[in-house]
Amino acid sequence: MSSSSPDVLIIGGGLAGLSAAVELTSRGHSILLLEQKQHFGGRTYSFIHPETGDEVDNGQHLMMGCYHSTLKYLETIGRISLVEVQSNLSIVFRESNKSPSLFQTVPLPAPLNVLVGLLRLQSLSFSHRLAMLRVGIELVLRNPEKNKHLQSITVAEWLEELKQPEENRKYLWDIIAIGALNDSTDRISAALFVKVLKSAFFGSRFNSSMVIPKKGLSTVLIDGAVSYVQKRGGRVLKNNSIKQISDIVSSISSVELESGEVITPKAVISAVPYFDIPRLFKDPGSIGLTDMDQFISSPIITIHLWFDAHFMQEQFVAMIDSPIHWVFNKSKIYGREDEGLMYLALVVSGAHDLVEKEKDELVNIAHHELKRFYPSASVAKVIHSLVIKEKRATFSPKVGLEQFRPQHKTTVQNLFLAGDWTDTKLPATIEGAVQSGYGCADTADKFIKSKR
Ligand SMILES: Cc1cc2nc3c(=O)[nH]c(=O)nc-3n(C[C@H](O)[C@H](O)[C@H](O)COP(=O)(O)OP(=O)(O)OC[C@H]3O[C@@H](n4cnc5c(N)ncnc54)[C@H](O)[C@@H]3O)c2cc1C
Repeated sequence: MSSSSPDVLIIGGGLAGLSAAVELTSRGHSILLLEQKQHFGGRTYSFIHPETGDEVDNGQHLMMGCYHSTLKYLETIGRISLVEVQSNLSIVFRESNKSPSLFQTVPLPAPLNVLVGLLRLQSLSFSHRLAMLRVGIELVLRNPEKNKHLQSITVAEWLEELKQPEENRKYLWDIIAIGALNDSTDRISAALFVKVLKSAFFGSRFNSSMVIPKKGLSTVLIDGAVSYVQKRGGRVLKNNSIKQISDIVSSISSVELESGEVITPKAVISAVPYFDIPRLFKDPGSIGLTDMDQFISSPIITIHLWFDAHFMQEQFVAMIDSPIHWVFNKSKIYGREDEGLMYLALVVSGAHDLVEKEKDELVNIAHHELKRFYPSASVAKVIHSLVIKEKRATFSPKVGLEQFRPQHKTTVQNLFLAGDWTDTKLPATIEGAVQSGYGCADTADKFIKSKR
């Protein structure tokens, strides 16, 4: 039976595990990263669609200028040129039988850039736009991490308190909230929403810009990290894991891989999601995780459609009053807007009501909605379709959950936690995962140095 002793064993090859591996190898540590699946990337990956050759994401991912750790990660792994960064935030809102309206920030310092953009939002009456300013003022005054009241109410209750008319919710707040936090405003925590709005709309002007991957997610966010780590001597194994960890006392001295190899690391990082913790640790309570039942999942469905005609001009749009929340024109994003088939990805966030529907029904709903919003879609034929349901896309950021999100340190001295569900103060996002990976790498690095 072979054995090895890397400085750090990382379990989980999603963005949290990979960013921890990138950071640790760049600091000169030896690492072994294990991923149980055939592919790295976890909930952020892409594959080639056999019929068209297109790169298909497991779900469309958007980033923002305020994703500072992610942008640093993309620089480090050499993939920053594969994202498009808007010069100013620009989102088209579409509503059936109405002209589209544009929410666009202007080239002024934040938050003026956003406030002027809101005041110009044509879909709302001027008095409703003025009502939006109440939210702006609240954002300036409140610190979501200290404000107990915000932590105890939902987004819907918060908007009610700020006297936001129904139109303001429909045309802006609900779309941002469900897109960023992936659940209904009746469930999600106002504190987390305020944190998202503050990160995106305050600070630098660039923070609110959308950052759009120009290629498949694995090409942009994953493959470069794997090569980066391997080039620096890190070992990364797919389709591999460890036997369940049980009977931990005060530290983990050795673990056995499923292949039988024994590893004696100085530190261990668990970068697996909340739903895989009970499979990895026989007794999560023994490492300080006593409240795992607080985490519940919220689904995202992506309906990928290839049409025989190009009827959509925009890069992406938000859909008002539709079961479909966003439509992404992948042909345009991939830089081949008039060639061959038109490839669209339609996203349903917080998809509790649709997730059990059959594929054909979801494709019919999607096509029906496109015809309502784009009359010329009625003459376009669906040539290929693919539905991806991610039932555990994110944790539901319900009111009160924040207190149960764990820190990097556990009750076991050389075991550390990373992942979008740990205490990042952000919703389940790419940025949360990468921040947690970097933070956890730093904690493990300090631990190893303290033992020298
Ligand atoms: C459809 C969809 C759309 C999304 N859209 C956005 C978006 O627009 N913007 C945004 O910022 N975020 C978005 N997200 C959220 C984002 O993808 C996640 O927050 C992020 O990928 C989580 O990364 P992670 O590393 O924490 O976890 P994961 O990606 O889940 O990675 C954990 C890894 O650990 C592995 N693992 C588990 N157990 C073991 C074990 N015992 N041994 C070895 N390996 C193990 C898993 O296989 C997995 O690869 C979206 C998510 C989905 C699913």
